[in-house]
Amino acid sequence: MITFYPGPAKLYPQVAEWAAEACASGLVSMNHRSPEFMAVTEGAIRGVKEKLNVPDDYHVALVSSATECWEIIAQSLTERSSEHPYTGAFGKKWMDYAHRLRPPRPDELPDVLGVVQNETSNGTQVRMDALAQYRRAHPDAIVAVDAVSSMAGIVMDWSLADVWFASVQKCFGLPAGLAVLIYSPQALSRAQAIGERDHYNSLLFLHDNFSQFQTPYTPNGLGIYLLNRVMQTVPSIAAVDERTRQRAADWYRFFEQDMADSPFRLLINDPQVRSDTVIAVAGSEVNIKTIKAVAKEAGILLGNGYGDWKTTTFRIANFPAITDEEVGRLREFLMKSGE
Ligand SMILES: *Cc1c(COP(=O)(O)O)cnc(C)c1O
Repeated sequence: MITFYPGPAKLYPQVAEWAAEACASGLVSMNHRSPEFMAVTEGAIRGVKEKLNVPDDYHVALVSSATECWEIIAQSLTERSSEHPYTGAFGKKWMDYAHRLRPPRPDELPDVLGVVQNETSNGTQVRMDALAQYRRAHPDAIVAVDAVSSMAGIVMDWSLADVWFASVQKCFGLPAGLAVLIYSPQALSRAQAIGERDHYNSLLFLHDNFSQFQTPYTPNGLGIYLLNRVMQTVPSIAAVDERTRQRAADWYRFFEQDMADSPFRLLINDPQVRSDTVIAVAGSEVNIKTIKAVAKEAGILLGNGYGDWKTTTFRIANFPAITDEEVGRLREFLMKSGE
């Protein structure tokens, strides 16, 4: 089965081998405070910083999920409340989580702005120039960016936000259960000024631990091991970005031209906001249902729609672990089914 599901998504083929290696070497049975395991954590963090070109003065912590990052930002970086200019299901979910912990009050301005860079539910993205506008419009706010389905797939201008996060089951090509949380010196100062240490995952605890390549609790050691290995293997983000954007452009052209007479069309009309990593395709409920079923029989897993677009779209992941050959097979299948 080849999968275009946008998360959990296709793994890099080496993952099975790396997992076996992690078990056989005994590393995942070692204490997470042992020098051997700390070297793995250090390697994973260094790998993320190097391959993704993260500024030297930004910090990296590893947690369990993007959902956990939503709560960490609300707990540890939000003194008043947060604002969420969302366009889809994940942005709304983030707002709901954040506002349960820090309800907005009419007499107070929000001190955190939460932006979903790549809205996986509908295949839109906030480009870096739009992010720069948010930054300028909210100069005193902490800008936090959910880049779950784009980090490690496209180049980010890290300077445009104080916090960036992604779980690894999307563009990192790894199994779920680990998330990368990147934060600026300004975010750390804000956390220190707030001084929140009430939770096992308070940012200040995480920071104290990760500055020594340790964790406040027993971490997902296998996940960290795999992150270290995948970061050793992938090319630099500039090279990955070029390929991702080229393939996205090819996908959009394919639907606009080759599939013009099919019962399917792109969900997003404005090319400026179309995602480079998740392509959303719309059609009638019955056509969507049928194409997913026929694809599955042909050994191809299309992504279901999500949220408001659950039954009227399917989604195609354009993640780095997917090969050009797999893309070719899906195109061939779509061409044939459109005849
Ligand atoms: C998948 C996804 C999430 C949720 O990630 P978890 O690891 O399940 O917490 C959050 N935001 C976006 C944009 C996503 O695509």
